[in-house]
Amino acid sequence: MQDLRPKTILFCAVLALAIGLSALLRGRRAVHWLFAGFAVDIALWYGSQSAADFFRADLWERVTGVLTVLLPQFAIHLFQSVVPLEVRSTQTRLARVGAIVGVPVLAMAVSRYHDTSFVLGTVYTYVFGLLAAALIMLALRGQRSPSRAVRDRVRFLVVVGAAATTFSLADFLSYLGVHIPPISAVLAIVFLFVLAESLTRPRLADLYELVGRLLVSTALAFCLAGIFYLFVMVIGGFDTMYLNAVLAAIVFLVLFEPLQTEVETRIHQFFFRERYDLETGVADLRKRLAHVLELDEMVTTVLQGLERSRRVTTAALLLRDQDGDGFDLAGSIGAAVPKRIESLGAHPMLDRLEKHASISLEELAREGGEGAGPVLASAATLGALQSAVVFAVRGDDDPCVGLLFVADDRVRDAFTPEEISLLETVASAISVVVANSRLYSRMKERDRLAALGSMAAGLAHEVKNPLGAIKGAAQLLEEVGAGSADDSSREFVGIILEEVNRLDRVVGSFLDYARPHAGNPIPLDLNAAVRRTVQILQSQSPDGGVDVQLELGEPLPRARIDPEKFRQVLINLVQNAIQAMDGHGKITVTTQVGRSGRARVPPHDGAAPASRRALPDETEQQVEVSVRDTGPGIADKVLRNLFVPFFTTKTEGTGLGLAISQSIVQNAGGTIEVHSLPGAGTTFTIVLPTADDALAAPTPTDAVAVRRRSEPPPPSART
Ligand code: ADP
Repeated sequence: MQDLRPKTILFCAVLALAIGLSALLRGRRAVHWLFAGFAVDIALWYGSQSAADFFRADLWERVTGVLTVLLPQFAIHLFQSVVPLEVRSTQTRLARVGAIVGVPVLAMAVSRYHDTSFVLGTVYTYVFGLLAAALIMLALRGQRSPSRAVRDRVRFLVVVGAAATTFSLADFLSYLGVHIPPISAVLAIVFLFVLAESLTRPRLADLYELVGRLLVSTALAFCLAGIFYLFVMVIGGFDTMYLNAVLAAIVFLVLFEPLQTEVETRIHQFFFRERYDLETGVADLRKRLAHVLELDEMVTTVLQGLERSRRVTTAALLLRDQDGDGFDLAGSIGAAVPKRIESLGAHPMLDRLEKHASISLEELAREGGEGAGPVLASAATLGALQSAVVFAVRGDDDPCVGLLFVADDRVRDAFTPEEISLLETVASAISVVVANSRLYSRMKERDRLAALGSMAAGLAHEVKNPLGAIKGAAQLLEEVGAGSADDSSREFVGIILEEVNRLDRVVGSFLDYARPHAGNPIPLDLNAAVRRTVQILQSQSPDGGVDVQLELGEPLPRARIDPEKFRQVLINLVQNAIQAMDGHGKITVTTQVGRSGRARVPPHDGAAPASRRALPDETEQQVEVSVRDTGPGIADKVLRNLFVPFFTTKTEGTGLGLAISQSIVQNAGGTIEVHSLPGAGTTFTIVLPTADDALAAPTPTDAVAVRRRSEPPPPSART
């Protein structure tokens, strides 16, 4: 044991020197110099102790004495700088008393009576008394701090410091002939390390983690050594070593895992109580969330779970609204929180949450950093959540479908980084529930619509037949009454016929929509089809209020689609445009080859799903037919529902035109896109994949097109 001590303290001296100098590499503020001084003093102290042990020289003992007296001086000033004190009086007084008493003690330590028991006793009393006082002051200051992080850090420093001091004091026993292992030196190094880390990290969470693991492994090592010792005791000494080793190995193998779990749980429970509570609370919460499908149930489960953890005073969960304009409060506990957060106002915070899973607003306010200003400004309207930690709830294709705010108003720095990581797992569990619940409600809605659809189709069939009979009867009545003078009867019959026709149109459209639309697809020359359709439309409305222009790109590959169906889509788009412009304006129908492989940007964030969809094969060639009008454009709310069946803004509309058009185009493997700016008109674009046999083959009706193709083709033809 006596051999061990000089070696250990020499080793610790080198370590202390390294830690001290490394602090200077991290910074050169007063606190770093003080720390370096303290560490170097400890290093020299241990160094001179080893030298005194080794050379047995008087000089080294005196040097050790001087260094011993200097220790508390460094400690007091260092503790003051590590935890800045608002009221410095007690600590400053202590430093002054220490300095005054230190001078005679120093004189004693270098005097020729330095090795007398009296001097040694005085020096040790002075040093350890002062160190203990400094630690008590530190502990008291720490306790009074409003910041949980500072309190934790100080508590931790005090415990390790007190252990190092007590064991160093125990070293004194060696003068009385009692030799204890040189634990003090090891503890002093641990203390220095903790202190050095706390200079760079405002929070000690990482260190907690490290110390936690150190404690667990030490406890495990002790347990296993104990088991081995038992074997040696019970079965026999080192002569039966091999037998013992094998048996112990088997026992270790069986016991290791449960033992590790048990030791880990106990140590965390004992040393890191709050963290342990949160950990178990979060694990329990995640387990319960795994069985939740409904959003309301999820919100209640999350908030109850957070409340039960006792680490949260205010929490709020907000979910993005359907329009994507903001987040609505889904539930909260604690202080009153805003009912809604607008995406526009909160966008610096949301942008940051795209890159980070969470933001500690309090930490951001304290430490600043890149882009902190706008984030804090956007958080300024959050009221009780201003100092919260905000977590992003991610969606499948949305970086933020919800926001989880968690705050503990009782303390500053309420959550350590590890606790924040733990809570991030809650946010991810919420993301899963949100995605699942949306999928679930979509499935439910799809089933409901499917049932409703087939019911409605059956109903429409039932309605169509009697409708035919009513129409026939009404027409008969009209003919019979044609000669009569009874005007009101004629008027009533007229109304019946008009309404029956309207009903017939609606039911017909609905059946059209409900039936599959494949028709008879052929490779169609779209330019020719466009010309014919526009001709028909113009002949039907000769008043000339609307100027229809064609810009047909030639040559144009054919697209495979049923000609009648294509005409139906085009008529619908042109008629919609005419109606939107109130019969006055300009419509331009354009055809062109779509650039293959180009990415299609959805026209509007909230546009109907179909227009957002990617094309079936982005690399294949496409043909585009667009109908552009100079009408009033489409408002955002209408745009979102454009392709929804029965959605109409017209009194006489069926709301099925675009839904049918979309389903026809989709059946042909294409999409319909819409670009609209309120006040600046609307463009609907039909995008179709080209038929395999590429360019349009000449047909008698395509005479013009054929002739044009034989000439050098202009980039676009205007009719
Ligand atoms: P309907 O024409 O019977 O209302 P549609 O499905 O064809 O049904 O159209 C749905 C709605 O879309 C219309 O009521 C109208 O509000 C809007 N809409 C369609 N095309 C245009 C357009 N070119 N300009 C402005 N609004 C349009």
